[in-house]
Amino acid sequence: MKNTFLPKENRPLLIAGPCSVESEEQLLSTAKRLQATGKVDMIRGGIWKPRTRPNAFEGVGAIGLPWMKRVKEETGLPVTTEVAKASHVELCLEFGIDVLWIGARTTVNPFAVQEIADALKGVDIPIMVKNPINPDLGLWLGAVERLQKAGLNKIGAIHRGFSFSGEKFYRNRPQWQYAIDFKQEMPDVPMINDPSHICGRRDILQKVSQKAMDLNMDGLMIESHIDPDKAWSDAKQQITPEVYGQMMKDLVLREYDPSNNPQRSELEKLRKQINLIDDELISILSSRMAVARDIGSYKKENNITILQSARWQHILGKYKEKAKAHDLSDDFITRFIKAVHDESINQQEKVFGE
Ligand code: PEP
Ligand code: MN
Repeated sequence: MKNTFLPKENRPLLIAGPCSVESEEQLLSTAKRLQATGKVDMIRGGIWKPRTRPNAFEGVGAIGLPWMKRVKEETGLPVTTEVAKASHVELCLEFGIDVLWIGARTTVNPFAVQEIADALKGVDIPIMVKNPINPDLGLWLGAVERLQKAGLNKIGAIHRGFSFSGEKFYRNRPQWQYAIDFKQEMPDVPMINDPSHICGRRDILQKVSQKAMDLNMDGLMIESHIDPDKAWSDAKQQITPEVYGQMMKDLVLREYDPSNNPQRSELEKLRKQINLIDDELISILSSRMAVARDIGSYKKENNITILQSARWQHILGKYKEKAKAHDLSDDFITRFIKAVHDESINQQEKVFGE
């Protein structure tokens, strides 16, 4: 069944709100000030907070649910919170939470995800799945598949980066390729970027948000607090609603599907040219491999090894020189020639095995 989480024309979907719901007053005034920016489509707020270590604030729990409901009534905006087990799901449904999300520490656990999926059987509620804390595309896709199997088809994904050890520029390394690969596998599941948990700090939020837009992501989820420095969780990365509003106004939204635009015929012409060149490249590579196979037959008949290291070194050096004259980077040409050479060896090995 078609995924209908977010109609494309609403891009980007903007979700903002505090990391944690702390009090009715804090939540309501954050939501109202966010709404006043005119740049928010949905209010987030953590009710149950999975924390890495125990003594941190773990959320107000179920008493916060009526506060979320009040936000929804007073602003008319949909509200979303994180669920980690069946009892959370049941309470959210009872209090009319509009959208759920599964956090990074839950996506890693197929039992927990399955429990949530089972609790949602027969319920038509939108749900977003954060990437697991470790860079594992299978776990991320698998969590979505479990929800799909339970009959849910309003599913979104959230890219919040991946834990790593070592020097911290980001709190969680973005490794954008995983979000891009996810989109490739599940093109109709919208991808929402979470710059707050990627950055862990305020000064680079704008840059990461812009990058997400330039990579054609479908939305943003950003943590905002009326008094960020005093937030009970994730204080360093939260921003006031007004700073958030300005950030969203400064975002540059570029056209993301130029192929549908008749004014883009120049781009289309250039793309046709590139396609023709790529076709030629493939056919040249194929001719090259045919010669490699002939060499393979010759070597087999004459008992010569496939790899001659000296010749390979010579070839690599020669092409690096040539590449320089053609404005191709050393790194690219090295990777390219190595890949071609690898394929040549594989083809010759096949001949040897015949
Ligand atoms: C959050 O959204 O506040 C949160 C706990 O995020 P994550 O699951 O990405 O760590
Ligand atoms: Mn947070």
